[in-house]
Amino acid sequence: MSKIFAVANQKGGVGKTTTCVNLAASLVANKRRVLLVDLDPQGNATMGSGVNKGELQLSVYDVLADSLPARKAIVPTDSGYDLLPANGDLSAAEVELLDMEGRESRLRRALREEHDNYDYIVVDCPPSLNMLTVNALCAASGVLIPMQCEYYALEGLSALIDTITQIQRAANPELKIEGILRTMYDPRNSLTSDVSEQLSEYFGERLYRTCIPRNVRLAEAPSYGKPALEYDRHSKGAIAYLALAGEMTRRHGAGRGASQAAPVAQ
Ligand code: ADP
Ligand code: MG
Repeated sequence: MSKIFAVANQKGGVGKTTTCVNLAASLVANKRRVLLVDLDPQGNATMGSGVNKGELQLSVYDVLADSLPARKAIVPTDSGYDLLPANGDLSAAEVELLDMEGRESRLRRALREEHDNYDYIVVDCPPSLNMLTVNALCAASGVLIPMQCEYYALEGLSALIDTITQIQRAANPELKIEGILRTMYDPRNSLTSDVSEQLSEYFGERLYRTCIPRNVRLAEAPSYGKPALEYDRHSKGAIAYLALAGEMTRRHGAGRGASQAAPVAQ
């Protein structure tokens, strides 16, 4: 039974896609079987995994809109994880889904048949709380929230947590906050330390100890269609994501144990 994590934050540019691609590669380095689902019409996770979004025969759009089995659209990547890719077609699904039966649970249903094939399924969400993100949250057992430690980041977080709580009540009681990840972290900035402290008080154990530093290699790697681990395995960014994968898998024992993440509502 795989663990499904939605990597979500309605703010753009906080490191969702960077986290998805690098976490997927780092979990593979930890000998886990991983599927990355690109649920953003921008297709950045697809391109960042070395798959050309302009040449896709089938994509996650066909899975969500036409009930194509996910297996038919899944492709392998050079980094050892599998990818359910996306391109601009997916923006049509945002609207089409609204009129469909079981509109929130289309991804959940599609991934049901993949549970035995992977230890982890990581879903890269678009930068909004739309029907695609709702599908990710309904399919997931945990939400991983990347955030930059700046003042307005905390404001945005409460809207996301409200949405998570609503989905937990209405559609997916299993849903938990898996963890909060500090990205583009600069400990020399005093605001960063203040926000970091507040996060630690509020989220306790759910705040990952691993922080992802601002690192130019992480920003460069996508233009080569590679995770940082392949582009420059000694870079601080690659090492930080390996540490995150280690922290995650330790939380989950051998990757098959019960999640120890705390529930959302307290
Ligand atoms: P999102 O998916 O939340 O919109 P991205 O992962 O695409 O965010 O990141 C936004 C931009 O910041 C990208 O250009 C990415 O390469 C860069 N970036 C992300 N994380 C880091 C980091 N830790 N250090 C430096 N640049 C980063
Ligand atoms: Mg993104």
